[in-house]
Amino acid sequence: MAAAPHVVILTSSGAGHVVPVSELAKRLAVHHGFAVTIVTYASLSTPGHSSPLASLPPGVSVAALPEVSLSDLPADAHLVTRILTVIDRALPQLRDLLRSLLGSSPAGITAFLTDMLCPAALAVGKEMGLPGYVFFTSSLMSLLSLLYTPELARTTTCECRDLPDPVLLPGCVPLHGADLVDPVQNRSDPVYQIMIDLGLNYLLAEGFIVNTMDALEHDTLVAFKELSDKGVYPPAYAVGPFTRRRCPDEVMVKHSCLRWLDNQPDGSVLYVSFGSGGTLSTEQTGELAAGLEASGQRFLWVVHHPNDKDSSAAYLGTAATADDDPLRHLPEGFVERTNGRGLLVPLWAPQVEILNHAAVGGFMSHCGWNSTLESVAAGVPMVAWPLYAEQRLNAVMLSSERVGMALWERPPVGKDGEVVHREEVAALARELMVGEKGDAARKNAGHLRDEAEIALAPGGPQERALTALVGVVFLHLKRRIE
Ligand code: UDP
Repeated sequence: MAAAPHVVILTSSGAGHVVPVSELAKRLAVHHGFAVTIVTYASLSTPGHSSPLASLPPGVSVAALPEVSLSDLPADAHLVTRILTVIDRALPQLRDLLRSLLGSSPAGITAFLTDMLCPAALAVGKEMGLPGYVFFTSSLMSLLSLLYTPELARTTTCECRDLPDPVLLPGCVPLHGADLVDPVQNRSDPVYQIMIDLGLNYLLAEGFIVNTMDALEHDTLVAFKELSDKGVYPPAYAVGPFTRRRCPDEVMVKHSCLRWLDNQPDGSVLYVSFGSGGTLSTEQTGELAAGLEASGQRFLWVVHHPNDKDSSAAYLGTAATADDDPLRHLPEGFVERTNGRGLLVPLWAPQVEILNHAAVGGFMSHCGWNSTLESVAAGVPMVAWPLYAEQRLNAVMLSSERVGMALWERPPVGKDGEVVHREEVAALARELMVGEKGDAARKNAGHLRDEAEIALAPGGPQERALTALVGVVFLHLKRRIE
């Protein structure tokens, strides 16, 4: 019997990357007969309770690249600088690993995939003649915005937020410069150059495997195809939505928050979470609490430690010491006053199970792309509360007329980081849960849930896109062998 074709997938850290990478690996192994090696970085920790890498099917294995030191970086180096420096410094070890997999794996390596933060590694794969693809774990619009960064740097001199005209990416809703990803918002930060290199490194890929679907990004997919047909960009395969599947009740120990939800009326609970990494300032935490209280709505809030310096502090694990209870930072008497109507869960909750619970009627979210797709797949409308990375781009798309499943009060330009006051929080929460705009967003979310089901159905767009990709990968292999 011929050896199974072998795919290596390199992933950066964070649930937002590791979850979709594991899902893709499972799919390639179970449905397409690949052996898959997922390569991770020991230097990049992944916050989260249980790692998706702990429950992989036969045929999928994991290898970790050894620790590299970042002790020479300034303490306030941007999160993206830290992550991409690890990736850069671990390239020699990656080269050794790929060589040893090429030597030891019966089928060699059929294709080399990197997640959206690791395209620098494609050059190493190229040295060995491996076809390389980027698994882009966010929207096609974010990919376009990152491909645009080198041009942005070349053709403009001001900060993005001061750009006089809207940014018009092909097939995308118009953006304000302030909506572009946060690491390009400050030209004097070293991360700005890192983002330019990232944009250029994407062009080393044979193709982009994008965790999106037609119903969310139809016009963008059409425009991207025109560009790739002209040879401007490698082709994009829309393989989404890849989200973690809900754990069946019988195989999981039911989290107490799900038992609490069992006792709430259908569609009545607002779920509030800022992902695995998001943090609010102390003042903002207090205003959010007061706003939820004033809204009169039921809520389930995953509470992180506040951080006054960084909106992604939980990612770095710098938000608090382990014995510090995040609920301790909430306003005096808040827990008691909202008891029964609100439930607070420290640090981590089973999000997919929550979003699919009948009691949940809305999601106040940082708009991480995985949270977004999970909300889409569950048909739950959102209040967008973007914090960092590409989350503002996601908020623009979700609140646009095209998609219309999120309410978003865009902060005035240049005033990002200002506190959202309790009155605004309460108004947004009420509007989403019982207002007219919330109703419209709910209908649109329901439509997108149906589209997601169609995308995932056997023989549907996801399967077709993956089959097309696998066909191209084998074509490369055939050419290499001949
Ligand atoms: N997540 C979760 N429980 C939490 C927080 C996050 O299960 O309390 C999961 C969430 O379901 C999603 C991922 O972690 O799959 C977060 O990814 P996303 O892209 O939304 O945001 P990030 O954390 O990368 O900013």
